[in-house]
Amino acid sequence: MKEACGVFGVYYPGNRASYLTYDGLFTLQHRGQESAGMAVSDGQTITVFKEMGLVSNVFNETILTTLEGFLSIGHTRYSTTGSSTWANAQPAYRPMGHAGFALAHNGNLTNVDRLVEKVGMMPGMVTSDSDVLAELISKSSFFSGKDQTHALEKAVGEVINDVEGAYSLVLMDAYRLMGIRDPNGLRPLCLGVFKDESTDSELGWVLSSESAALNVIGAKFVREIEPGELIVIDETGIKSYFPFIVEPKEKLCIFEFVYFSRPDSILYNREVHGTRRRMGELLAIEHGVDADMVMGVPDSGIPAAEGYSKHSGIPYGQGLVKNRYIGRTFIYPTQEQRYKNVRRKLTPLKENIVGKRLIVVDDSFVRGTTSSALIKMLREAGAKEVHMRFSSPPFKWPCFYGIDIPTKDELLAANVEIDEIASIIGADSVGFLSLKSLMEAINAQGKEFCNGCLTGSYPSPVPTDAKPAIKMPATISDAKLFEKL
Ligand code: SF4
Repeated sequence: MKEACGVFGVYYPGNRASYLTYDGLFTLQHRGQESAGMAVSDGQTITVFKEMGLVSNVFNETILTTLEGFLSIGHTRYSTTGSSTWANAQPAYRPMGHAGFALAHNGNLTNVDRLVEKVGMMPGMVTSDSDVLAELISKSSFFSGKDQTHALEKAVGEVINDVEGAYSLVLMDAYRLMGIRDPNGLRPLCLGVFKDESTDSELGWVLSSESAALNVIGAKFVREIEPGELIVIDETGIKSYFPFIVEPKEKLCIFEFVYFSRPDSILYNREVHGTRRRMGELLAIEHGVDADMVMGVPDSGIPAAEGYSKHSGIPYGQGLVKNRYIGRTFIYPTQEQRYKNVRRKLTPLKENIVGKRLIVVDDSFVRGTTSSALIKMLREAGAKEVHMRFSSPPFKWPCFYGIDIPTKDELLAANVEIDEIASIIGADSVGFLSLKSLMEAINAQGKEFCNGCLTGSYPSPVPTDAKPAIKMPATISDAKLFEKL
């Protein structure tokens, strides 16, 4: 499972926004590793630099020095709509208004075909949903008026009600920084501030997919941007608008808590790491089993494994080592390649696991590829029993909002009964945290979530192609294939 992008923006007069944006993007690298880019304004001119690769490969001291200005937006990309090419790297730029505008997008639009038609783009020319969005905004009548001072925010307000799906956007013209979340608040976006501590006055502002990136650049977390809220920051200060016709709802993607967000980020006023530990505790209550050691699948399974150990009293231990220098990995087209990729990423710690009954905690269950590869590795390394536990329910439906979940045919739990999964992946037992307990672990009173990929119930219209296919998955033959590797 891969997240689809991190966005970041800085408005900080008297400072080099490019350096701050670099540090912000570096912290958001986990949200997308295909390309990185930023747009920077000195108040007159917008300069855009983007390239394929990791943030640290795309930017260096020389490039950052040439990107002069106090205002910047940045983007790290993982593509779910549009191919992984330089043209689709962001920010997207359009030369409208005084110096043009730039846009960076996290999420996925669900009515692109209608928008393409509306905006008059040739279908063959469309390369990504973010590009369509930039084109739609650029076609606003506000860019042809005489007074262009607030053209961008007016243009966004004018067109945004036509846009469906998931989007947290940061935008900029030459003078102002803007951020907007879709009315369901599916993808996160938060606000930070630079303050003069002696006078308590605001010196600058930051927008970020995650609060962890604020800490890194010395900004303070202020709050999350509300679903359906448009924020505009310029020399007059910060303004908030709600330009949507529909009533905003809180439907943050529940997997931000389970997997996507960094453990040190704040969502719904709670640190993500603590909620992951609690998921593990509740998992131990729901799916307890006698064993000698609890271990987590690095990295995102570890907090839940700690929680499982704490509640069950079974000692926590490290059973796998992760290769931290593997860099970018690919979505391999065959199961064989995916199995090999698991071995490339993780290796067992034999002395810690030999002869033991293991409880192995992971965050999520998609195809079963990672689990079956892990189980085989652990058994080869001498594990006596392997009990798989997952700190979320299994995926049964695709995501239409920018998370790279495979088709239903590839989602193992959508195609077999839950109690068949253990034998298919080669585990002694399998247990999934229930949705009820997942909600309890997050404990966000009065908040709601998107859980469409777990329940098939989505917060906005999506293309529906009926129920999961009832067929035996390729995974059974793949399990045989894996035996040979
Ligand atoms: S469908 Fe699933 S992965 Fe997609 S936004 Fe909703 S909860 Fe998140």
